[in-house]
Amino acid sequence: MKTIGLIGGMSWESTITYYQLINEAVKERLGGLHSAKILLYSVDFAELEALMSRGEWDKSAELLGDVARRLEQAGADCVLICTNTFHKIAPQVQARIRVPLLHIAEAAADELLSHGIKRVGLLGTKYTMTQDFYRDKLTARGVAVVIPEGDDIDLVNQVIFEELCLGVVREESRAAYLRVIADLKRRGAEAILLGCTELGLILRQEDVDLPLFDTTVIHAEQAAKFALI
Ligand code: GLU
Repeated sequence: MKTIGLIGGMSWESTITYYQLINEAVKERLGGLHSAKILLYSVDFAELEALMSRGEWDKSAELLGDVARRLEQAGADCVLICTNTFHKIAPQVQARIRVPLLHIAEAAADELLSHGIKRVGLLGTKYTMTQDFYRDKLTARGVAVVIPEGDDIDLVNQVIFEELCLGVVREESRAAYLRVIADLKRRGAEAILLGCTELGLILRQEDVDLPLFDTTVIHAEQAAKFALI
């Protein structure tokens, strides 16, 4: 079994889910007392969020690239950035290591295509929803992307940073998200991509009448598969 390197803490609420899902996948495949070999470097999210909101992506690339290198030196056979948004600097992080960086949006695109989805509604931070670094990974593979419009972009973003990343799940926010999803469906989305690793904390498949694809689940599954090849 290979060793998985996780860059976590962004937020730690969703890193818990990664840890659990990867171990469950390994246990399911190998049985008995088997569990995943994982190296976790959990950052202080406040430092990274401050860099992100000031637009200092080069500094965050340096910091996360350094973390990736430490994970590689410690024996990681692959590295995952356990958040969608910081994949903005995935190329710089990959450039610092020799082992593969498993890209969350590439894994998501493959999963959507394997279910025949050609047009997806994307929910995530404002960076993920509006900037090219993420959407291009989907469109390059033939999956068209629909995102919320107008004030809904801020609403979706705000709930992530002011509630979900702090472990707060409010019914009112769930209802607002369901309204945004209904709008994405009206605009042609065949499925919804939870393109933020905390969204699975608030959105459940039984509440939504479109198929939900959770990037945390997809990314964790990709890591487990890599480890067991
Ligand atoms: N974890 C979230 C994501 O998947 C948002 C927090 C962050 O900016 O890392 O994008």
